[in-house]
Amino acid sequence: MSTQTFEFQVEARQLLQLMIHSIYSNRDVFLRELVSNASDALDKLRIAALRDDSLDADVSDLHILIETDPEARTLTVRDNGIGMSYDEVSELIGTIANSGTAKLLAELREAKDGAGAEGLIGQFGVGFYSSFMVADEVTLVTRRAGEGGGTRWTSRGEGTYTLERLDEDAPQGTAVTLHLKPADPDDQLHDYTAEWKLREIVKRYSDFITWPVRLAPADGDGDGEAAALNSMKALWARPREEVSDDEYHELYKHISHDWRDPLETIRLQAEGTFEYQALLFLPAHAPHDLFTRDHKRGVQLYVKRVFIMDDCEALLPSYLRFVKGVVDAADLSLNVSREILQQDRQIQRMNRRLAKKVLASVKDLRTADPERYATFWKEFGAVVKEGLVTDPDNRDAILAAATFATTHDEDAPTTLKDYVERMGEGQSDIYFMTGESRQAIENSPHMEAFRAKGVEVLLLTDPVDEVWVDAVGTFDGKPLRSVAKGEIDLGDGAGDTSDAEREKLDEEYAAVLGWLSERLADDVKEVRLSSRLTVSPACVVSDADDITPALENMYRAMGQ
Ligand code: ADP
Ligand code: MG
Repeated sequence: MSTQTFEFQVEARQLLQLMIHSIYSNRDVFLRELVSNASDALDKLRIAALRDDSLDADVSDLHILIETDPEARTLTVRDNGIGMSYDEVSELIGTIANSGTAKLLAELREAKDGAGAEGLIGQFGVGFYSSFMVADEVTLVTRRAGEGGGTRWTSRGEGTYTLERLDEDAPQGTAVTLHLKPADPDDQLHDYTAEWKLREIVKRYSDFITWPVRLAPADGDGDGEAAALNSMKALWARPREEVSDDEYHELYKHISHDWRDPLETIRLQAEGTFEYQALLFLPAHAPHDLFTRDHKRGVQLYVKRVFIMDDCEALLPSYLRFVKGVVDAADLSLNVSREILQQDRQIQRMNRRLAKKVLASVKDLRTADPERYATFWKEFGAVVKEGLVTDPDNRDAILAAATFATTHDEDAPTTLKDYVERMGEGQSDIYFMTGESRQAIENSPHMEAFRAKGVEVLLLTDPVDEVWVDAVGTFDGKPLRSVAKGEIDLGDGAGDTSDAEREKLDEEYAAVLGWLSERLADDVKEVRLSSRLTVSPACVVSDADDITPALENMYRAMGQ
């Protein structure tokens, strides 16, 4: 049948150029990516066969097979999984869907040093394309489970790829064949046709993959099936002492499609009537779509070591949607659906327990490793704070894990607890101000009296801050109070004018107050004298129960 040639999207072409010139120093990881894709495809086929027993597919020996041909310098990674239709190949392999890619490329061109570029590449998980780090030509042959025929895709990574519909049935699943770049005689370490090398890479990066990864005998006529290169042991079921950090990190990368190490690994073993094991990870970087509706959760559900589903939203509350990992429950049906999970009492209990565990880990991180905590909170604090509104049960745990920018120390955010400990004698409230940025808040006239008196103010700049301060109301019995609202009594004099004095002042300024009130009648409720300012002549204040100016802006921006 006819072969058609297509051009890569501009972004895909640029990304391929980067791959071909291999800015990523650790080229071995291409195999991890191909094995990871194959493993996903096997999971998908097993689930599809479970749901539909009329599906025409053989699931009796799902596995991954690596074949090499040293003469021809080829390496093939073959799976008998779900496969792809013609349209899926052209959609999934021919283009780069990720909208962040253009931005990535711009940043990559800026990043001169390899390390920076490596980090950026990792942000997007270039998966399949990483083959071009080691290959000068890649061929993919695939057949979608239940369909006849097949599709062949080829590319030299240079700007075009070809697509061909096959007349004959291709084998079940997908085979990716790399034609390896010419060998460097001085570089034995990167000979990807060498058996020891492939063993080493699979062991190192893919040991936990739950499907056997086999190496085909080099002479092609090995008797029977080769032993798996990987142990297939579920990391979450193994004792902590037996598993290295590197092994945990590789599992994280497989689940999250992130190329970088996670910030923190969290383990939980629950025994009793409802047994489960959880292995959760805090990523080091927020994804681009964290605040969009179709953001995917990264927690996989297993039942007794068998993969059940990806992105299982029932396992953790929405404000922890960035957490990745695995939950393996002993007593669930293999057929369990998302709907059933949402309703299940045991799952709801597990959800609460996991949330508490994650929050406790964040709190521990804060004291144990302030630097890593700071990274975490910068990336995910705004999401976690949503929980102050949506999860009243865990409010204390969230506040114990949270820190806030403060006028007390520009470089060190504070906990509410530390704020309260620093409160002066006459101070009964916890003061905060919301705004777009630290600078905008600090320039606000509302801050003047606080600065003059040396009263600490929390500087809240995330949109969610507008909402949780109201929902939470008090901390440790102290009201949370906006410096931009109502009359403020700073205790030791400011705003503490005696009644007689005030009357006298009001009289003195009656004329100017009257004039201002008249001129501003359409815009403000009242014009009054204030002692809250030290430099600015006037400022606008809300009533104590009005919404704050920043919230007003937010609503306005939302068109309300
Ligand atoms: P990712 O795995 O992060 O989605 P990849 O570039 O590795 O990105 O793969 C892109 C997509 O191509 C996958 O999401 C999957 O849908 C499809 N794909 C890749 N390899 C296979 C395979 N062996 N079998 C079936 N589908 C595959
Ligand atoms: Mg992949």
